[in-house]
Amino acid sequence: MQVYISDILLISGLKSRESYVRIDFAGCDFKCGYCDRQEILDFKVGFQRDIKEVKEKIKEYVGVAGAIIFSGAEPCLQRQALQNLAKYCKGLGFKIILKTNGTSPSLLGLLVKGGLVDKVRIEFKAPLIDGIFERVTKSRTFFKSSDEVIDSFEKSLEIIKKNDNKIGVVFRTVIVPGLLYKKEDILWVAKRISAVNCVWVLQQFNNEGIDGMFGKIDSPSISFLENLKEICMKEYSNLRIHIIGC
Ligand code: SF4
Repeated sequence: MQVYISDILLISGLKSRESYVRIDFAGCDFKCGYCDRQEILDFKVGFQRDIKEVKEKIKEYVGVAGAIIFSGAEPCLQRQALQNLAKYCKGLGFKIILKTNGTSPSLLGLLVKGGLVDKVRIEFKAPLIDGIFERVTKSRTFFKSSDEVIDSFEKSLEIIKKNDNKIGVVFRTVIVPGLLYKKEDILWVAKRISAVNCVWVLQQFNNEGIDGMFGKIDSPSISFLENLKEICMKEYSNLRIHIIGC
């Protein structure tokens, strides 16, 4: 089986169980303007590998790292390869963390049901309303309407909500001036997240290495993010919000 993976990186912690291996899958169905992984959004031939080689590499990290993070671009687009690797990594005793944009609910459901994922980090990029979601994610295509993309995300949310006692859940929202920064939009997301047992990361946008218009947008200040957090906490005091700077 072939798989499109750009990098397999060991990220070292102080103890071996704190170290993890990040596997970056190439290819994404979103085209967020502020994406900092633009070089791996397409399924380029250069990223193609035999899954056996990937497994050999992963095996080298047994006893060195405690977890595997399936990251990317979007790992869930390579359905069979992801399931295959998740089973393999579980068999080797690794914890599995999946980062996803949340638009592959059936695969997410299978991974959760199969006990093949310990933590999910979902990018909750914008309110699930056609105009703004599309503006942030540029996810509509000739074959898939924005409504369908949103519907898939809603289904993933349902799966996460039903299983939030079994798996760790982290949502992440990037605060980008001029795109996603308004109090009402952040409150919209807060309301949906407040029903889930999770951590919510508000991430400061960083223009480093980003081309085009977004490369010219300055980061919002941390105090701006703190203020958004406070507004959300007033309405939904059960939220666990972390602010991450760039
Ligand atoms: S979902 Fe993530 S990887 Fe895909 S385009 Fe958006 S920021 Fe980039």
